[in-house]
Amino acid sequence: MMKYILCLLLSVGMLVSCTQAQDQSKAPAATTSESEPEMAVDGVLLSLSGDTLEPVEKPAEEWENELTEQEFYVLRKAGTERAFTGALWDNKKKGIYTCAGCGLPLFSSETKFKSGTGWPSFWAPIHESNVKLKSDNSLGMTRTEVVCARCDGHQGHVFEDGPQPTGLRYCINSVSLDFRAGAKMKP
Ligand SMILES: [Zn+2]
Repeated sequence: MMKYILCLLLSVGMLVSCTQAQDQSKAPAATTSESEPEMAVDGVLLSLSGDTLEPVEKPAEEWENELTEQEFYVLRKAGTERAFTGALWDNKKKGIYTCAGCGLPLFSSETKFKSGTGWPSFWAPIHESNVKLKSDNSLGMTRTEVVCARCDGHQGHVFEDGPQPTGLRYCINSVSLDFRAGAKMKP
């Protein structure tokens, strides 16, 4: 019996390391510089980090020092910028939108659409695992909050009135995002 359990554990272990190895093989590690994991040569944005979704956790004071007042208010206090005031709601350039808190790629220009709301709107995140959804019952409404999967920074909300193919509208604050013009995710 013990032998069987041991054997099972070993198989699971192998499976896990195998999966990890596959994940790593997707990242073009050879061309990346350790110090700047975001950008590789020829404007390709690497999956911010084979290092990935390891949580970025900092005390509030540290965030407050690093972020602008508006970034801190939106990212760390789940605030909302006024519509049509952000830098990116009307941005039509091609590129990648990263978390203004930790740099994780969250959205791509390829899923951005004109919503008329005055906030950057996307019908999908760049990768499902890069955002986390939380139930938000503030302001007397039931909404689904969107946060960065790595630093938990508030991004906005997702609604079910978006365009196809998903029918979703990720309504995101400009100030929660940085834009990397011309960057692409490595396929
Ligand atoms: Zn983040």
